[in-house]
Parts: sequence; structure tokens; C-alpha cells
Amino acid sequence: MKLLNYLGELFFPSTCIYCGASVPDAQTIFCPDCLLLSVFTNFQTGWNNEMTDRLISIQNIKNAYAPLFYKKNAPIAGLFYKIKYGNRPDLAQKFGSFLGKSLHQIPKTGRDIDIICYVPVHPIKKARRGYNQSEIIAQSVGESLKIPTLPLLSRLTNIDTQTHYGRMDRLKNQEGSIRCDSKVNLFNHVLIVDDILTTGATMEICYDAIRQVAPKVDISVATLALTDNW
Ligand SMILES: [Zn+2]
Repeated sequence: MKLLNYLGELFFPSTCIYCGASVPDAQTIFCPDCLLLSVFTNFQTGWNNEMTDRLISIQNIKNAYAPLFYKKNAPIAGLFYKIKYGNRPDLAQKFGSFLGKSLHQIPKTGRDIDIICYVPVHPIKKARRGYNQSEIIAQSVGESLKIPTLPLLSRLTNIDTQTHYGRMDRLKNQEGSIRCDSKVNLFNHVLIVDDILTTGATMEICYDAIRQVAPKVDISVATLALTDNW
């Protein structure tokens, strides 16, 4: 494992998780500049926050959490692009372990989560990109919280990239496009993981898919970042 870490550092030198500036070692997550900037949401005090507000159309969501703000023209946007399209599953993993640690630091919150799943991509898209970043983030969160991760959600249709659509269009475009495995009923509290929460439309579709097969399971949401405008 040490050799692997060493090789990893040769190819991908340790960088700040937020801005990409170099840091002394893989254990250092943020550079000094980012520690001073307001990149953190500071939702640590609880799960009733700006994010739950954005998911207001989802009834009965238990908790929602994101540790970082996503700003369009900030370096973090470049990093998220690399995670998604740049063949950098290692970055997704690093961010995932940071998300797991952040969740762990919230007192008493989400301690009863017994299964983690993630926002799915269509198999064709996954094959093209090589991986689903949300899956890697979720697995990394699961490892750090010691909670299993399962592919409970799957995408039935290969929809176009949605970056130009508003919330209603995104909702309409995705309606019925995600299915949930009835295995979810074996659990009490499921956490859905994704990279970024923008309008919340995709999360809403995932929520509805789970609700359809499991009316009683508790559902929470965690993403790495929340867009600062939407
Ligand atoms: Zn930084």
C-alpha cells in the first residue's frame, strides 16, 4: 500500500482538495490559503441548513449535508470537472474520504444510516468515462464511516448532459429515468451520495425512485458541494 501511495504521488503530486495548489503530503487536505477562505459551508452544526431548504420539494427528507461551496469560476470547478471527465478517480476518492470525515464530525447526526447508495449514471456513459464519480465518492464515504455501499439506484435512459437546463426542465427530462432496487427495504436509513447539488432535481428523482419501492425508509442526502447560485 505504501508503494502504491508513493507511485500515486509520483503521478499525481499531493494537492489541495479545493484549489489544486501543492501541499506537503497526501494527509494534508487543504492548503493554508483555502483554510482562510470561505470555501466551507459550516453546516457542521446540524443538518437543517441551506441545503435542506433547496430540497424543500422533497417531503420528509431526513438530513442533507455538503461540506463545501461550489463556485463556478473558482479552482474547485476545475477539480470537479477533472473528477467527472478527466479520468481522475483518485481525486473522487480523496474527496469522498473528506466527505466521510466531515459527516463523522457532526455530533449524533446520521449515526443510524445503515446503507449508502449514489446517483447513478447510464452504463453507456459510465463506460465512456471509465467510472461513475458519485459511486467512487460513495464508496469512499462508506469506507470512512464503516457503512456498506450498494448500487441501489440505476439509470434506465441515457439522457443528455443537463448543465444548461433549469430545475423544471431537469425534472421533466429525468422523470421515471431512475429505478430503485427493492433491496432498499432491508434497511432503515439510506444515504444518497452525489458530487454536487445544483437545483436538487436529480436528487428529487432519486428520492422518488426510492419512495416508490420503500415508503417507510428514512432518506438522507450528502454531496461534496453545494452550488452557491442556481
Ligand atoms: Zn487550496
